[in-house]
Amino acid sequence: MPEPVIVLDRLAKSFADTHAVAGVTMAIPAGEIFGFLGANGAGKTTTIRMLCGLTKPTSGTGFITGHDIWKGRYAIRSRFGYVAQRFSLYPDLTVLENLRFFGAAYQVSGKRLDDRVETLLDQLDLRSKSRALAGSLSGGMRQMLALSCALVHEPALLFLDEPTSGLDPVHRQQIWDLLYELSSHGTTIFVTTHYMDEAERCTEVGFLHQGRLLAKESPLGLKQHFKGQLLEMQVEPVMEGLVQMRGVPGILGVALRSGRIRIYSAESERLVAEWQKQWPFPGLTWLGHSWAAPDMEDVFKAYSQGYSAILENTAP
Ligand code: ATP
Repeated sequence: MPEPVIVLDRLAKSFADTHAVAGVTMAIPAGEIFGFLGANGAGKTTTIRMLCGLTKPTSGTGFITGHDIWKGRYAIRSRFGYVAQRFSLYPDLTVLENLRFFGAAYQVSGKRLDDRVETLLDQLDLRSKSRALAGSLSGGMRQMLALSCALVHEPALLFLDEPTSGLDPVHRQQIWDLLYELSSHGTTIFVTTHYMDEAERCTEVGFLHQGRLLAKESPLGLKQHFKGQLLEMQVEPVMEGLVQMRGVPGILGVALRSGRIRIYSAESERLVAEWQKQWPFPGLTWLGHSWAAPDMEDVFKAYSQGYSAILENTAP
């Protein structure tokens, strides 16, 4: 097991009565692509901002490569790159000027800076835009530039807060290709995302709910914590089915998947047996049913909606 790069012990942050991060304990080994998931407001950005020394923890401790994230924040700033959720570039500077500005801020200069700028322009497909103002770039290109600026000093650790939010599939793929390449060279990546296909690409995923870490495992491990498979009902009319089945006692929730109703319940087998004996929905036609293996979307739904009855206890 590689040495942990990040070690958190009951790290917490409150804003008045809001416990944004309510005591997170975890360790992230070097070289990991760690996906930090959670619903809006779960506390992901606040955790990243504490890790980056931008906001002081209320209690608990956090260390990056052995340095306290608050007391040692100036010492460790040069060791990581951070791509914030919001536009962090200088819109009135060109692509090239932004790269050079961030290089200087990270004390990269001379030939090393020239080389880094050349590499990044090619690696992130920015060469044709090098003289364009950052403010004139499309959302995708801006994200590529923000990522380049965070990489100019070749950090061993990279924090990315929703780096692909709003991007088209081609740009998303480009960013993930780059993350894989960085990871293959040993860079540790800490990334938040609301895209479940991206969560699947992480080596490990942490699930934050109301400031608490509910689980931290590989995507496969998380999916295996479902108790059994998920029932999928094929009924007509399907939208009416969604409404009616949502209200059935024993059903925690439902979701529409490829025209079928996926049912979250700890009692699915009992329900099917009962429905085979007596179908309780006169307005619905039962066309068939099947069983589906849970995917990351199911994991997200189950954790964020608190469907503990269908999950094994996974608190780390
Ligand atoms: P999202 O997915 O929407 O980006 P998140 O998981 O990153 O959400 P945070 O931005 O960390 O969540 O917010 C966690 C909670 O802390 C929210 O209730 C938010 O309103 C609150 N919060 C965050 N920053 C502040 C602040 N500066 N002052 C007061 N409350 C804050």
